[in-house]
Amino acid sequence: MALNERMERVGEIKIWYGNLPVESLYTAGIAGEKFFRTLKDQGKFLGARCVQCGIVYVPGRIFCERCFNKLDEWVQVASSGTLESWTELHVDINGEKLDAPVLVGLIKLDGTSTVMVHRLNNVTREELKFGLQVKAVLLPKSKRTGAITDIAYFEPGV
Ligand SMILES: [Zn+2]
Repeated sequence: MALNERMERVGEIKIWYGNLPVESLYTAGIAGEKFFRTLKDQGKFLGARCVQCGIVYVPGRIFCERCFNKLDEWVQVASSGTLESWTELHVDINGEKLDAPVLVGLIKLDGTSTVMVHRLNNVTREELKFGLQVKAVLLPKSKRTGAITDIAYFEPGV
């Protein structure tokens, strides 16, 4: 039976279990590389601006999701912005209960058109509101690795 033929008798399907010795390596891509390297080395946020429709993406991308234009204009954007939404986490990525709840927000940096997800700190759930001004707190330069975790968290402020 060819692979593209429909299996009519499921009892004929053979299954075996095991592990494949395969490792995956994911890169940040062209735009992600520029964003994370600038964040690590300079502590600045870069966005990719679409010259056709004006959208500024942070982190940057190489194509505009709205008009499919190639994005090659990089602009520095603010490290502060507004809180667009938030949630409170009680379990970690493996479903294990956290010692203390963690607040996570959708943040729209000033001068951008998109939001990014990150931790919120130095604020209580009761203090959160739509449009709250928040600013990024970065790790010291010596501890940055070129990852989104170079941003320690966002906190209220400008
Ligand atoms: Zn566009």
